[in-house]
Amino acid sequence: MAFHLEKPVDFQFKAGQYLNVSLIDPPETDAEGNTRSFTIASAPFEADLVFASRMRDTAFKRILKTLTLRSEIRISGPFGSFTLHTDTSRAAVFLVGGIGITPFRSIILQSAKDKVAHKLYLFYSNRRPEDAAFLDELEKVEKQNSNYKFIGTMTDIQKSQRPWQGETGHITPQMLLKWISNLKGPIYYTAGPPGMVAVMRQMLNASGIGDDDIQTEEFTGY
Ligand SMILES: Cc1cc2nc3c(=O)[nH]c(=O)nc-3n(C[C@H](O)[C@H](O)[C@H](O)COP(=O)(O)OP(=O)(O)OC[C@H]3O[C@@H](n4cnc5c(N)ncnc54)[C@H](O)[C@@H]3O)c2cc1C
Repeated sequence: MAFHLEKPVDFQFKAGQYLNVSLIDPPETDAEGNTRSFTIASAPFEADLVFASRMRDTAFKRILKTLTLRSEIRISGPFGSFTLHTDTSRAAVFLVGGIGITPFRSIILQSAKDKVAHKLYLFYSNRRPEDAAFLDELEKVEKQNSNYKFIGTMTDIQKSQRPWQGETGHITPQMLLKWISNLKGPIYYTAGPPGMVAVMRQMLNASGIGDDDIQTEEFTGY
């Protein structure tokens, strides 16, 4: 579920940063309290502030999803340094599963708008196209930015009702090598639940990529 907030006047952030979001006087709460961190999924040039979450049955999210238009929430931020590197001679490779897409939506849309010179590769893994947040939009950015390549992959396509022409199965070094001739050239980025981030790092390390070339953002709480 995506949540659109009116952007406070003068609020500035860099693509990839996150917010702390607090509910104000919620009718129920639980042991985790009234605040969660969410990456800003919208790009800085967009009008709204957007965050997106995998919805589960926790007190915070039960309240969040019932908020009506013009409800107020408290935000603090922006925080974090999970932002695109400045050396345009090095490609950025984004390795993403599921809800970890949020910072990359912001980075990819802002990069297209700013016409940055980096080569960008998004490897985006989901069970089915139906489950993949921002899928169509992220694919379409290819038309705006010839330096950007979208590589979607589905791990449970048999259970899908939607046609799919892209890759299937998990992201593997072999899949990366179809697009990137020298795996040691780019800087790699991955975000999401800690388990997913750990798997991506292990895969990259096993392919000879050192931690200096891997940037991660862990969505602790999953
Ligand atoms: C920098 C940063 C950026 C983040 N960005 C995002 C983002 O863009 N989008 C996003 O969705 N999240 C993001 N998160 C994670 C987010 O802050 C929450 O922790 C997460 O969404 C879980 O919140 P919750 O209310 O569902 O569970 P919580 O109430 O926070 O869960 C508490 C504990 O209970 C367990 N738990 C709760 N419900 C279930 C369930 N149904 N099944 C199994 N276990 C359960 C959890 O594993 C956890 O250990 C980010 C976190 C950080 C630190």
